[in-house]
Amino acid sequence: MGVQYVAWNYEQMGIVATVKLSEPTENIVAWQRFLPSGPVALLPLTDTLSSLVWSVSTAEAKKLLSLSEEEFVDSLNDAFWKIHPKDGMVEAGMRALGQLLEGLSLHSGFTRQLQPSIRGIVEGTRAAFPLGFGHAASYVKPGVALVGDAAHRVHPLAGQGVNLGFGDVTALVRVLADASRNGAVLGDVAYLAKYETSRQRHNVPTMLAIDALHRLYKGTAAPIVLARSLGLQLTNAFPPLKRAIMEHASDHRTS
Ligand SMILES: Cc1cc2nc3c(=O)[nH]c(=O)nc-3n(C[C@H](O)[C@H](O)[C@H](O)COP(=O)(O)OP(=O)(O)OC[C@H]3O[C@@H](n4cnc5c(N)ncnc54)[C@H](O)[C@@H]3O)c2cc1C
Repeated sequence: MGVQYVAWNYEQMGIVATVKLSEPTENIVAWQRFLPSGPVALLPLTDTLSSLVWSVSTAEAKKLLSLSEEEFVDSLNDAFWKIHPKDGMVEAGMRALGQLLEGLSLHSGFTRQLQPSIRGIVEGTRAAFPLGFGHAASYVKPGVALVGDAAHRVHPLAGQGVNLGFGDVTALVRVLADASRNGAVLGDVAYLAKYETSRQRHNVPTMLAIDALHRLYKGTAAPIVLARSLGLQLTNAFPPLKRAIMEHASDHRTS
């Protein structure tokens, strides 16, 4: 299409696999742990299987891909379970905010659950993909429209890639239905431009927020760790804020 495309690499790869849980559970919780090397996440599939997305540096990814299944599973359990030294300032800040919220009767009300243990991976499912940010400045030209990852690529840490693409399709279908109802040619750029505007209004802020989260979670300096820990604790304590973020993330409507 010859459109401008803004892109950068995260110098990371996302390792994916279908993993077998150590024991069957009511597997309905998605887990994500933010490690200095990148986030590791498990998304429920069935009572015994979950889908892994593990973001690590490109060098680390190559190493993890070359391990035997047993060694890989050990490294994965380590990533979920290993206890890392905690910074005293961060701990103190979190405790103080916890007490303050409790004083204000603003509990998060959640019960802490244990992360899952992994006993194996489904053969042939381990693979790795390069991670990067990418955005097409225009999604449309006469007779052409970009949707999904062809238009935009994000870091998987927020699990939003597919949602953004589904939102594009919903919006495009609506615009094409309008064009058809009004007797216009389907590829009429006057209609397609409406699709582009509505989706860019949603996609660009979401993508920038995901990129900002990636940068925030890459840092290991105590003030950064404290800021993001307090931010998460506060978000969790204010259900309306949490709901607003969830609603934006799952919004497939066109405005
Ligand atoms: C490691 C990783 C983890 C992710 N985790 C999540 C997650 O947890 N949640 C989430 O929502 N999203 C996640 N995503 C993002 C998600 O995978 C993508 O947003 C989604 O797959 C995009 O769908 P798509 O159909 O637009 O593009 P794709 O899935 O890339 O499909 C495009 C298809 O077109 C084919 N193709 C390309 N060129 C041609 C050609 N010239 N001719 C014919 N065929 C062609 C490709 O082979 C491919 O099959 C993740 C991405 C990665 C890399």
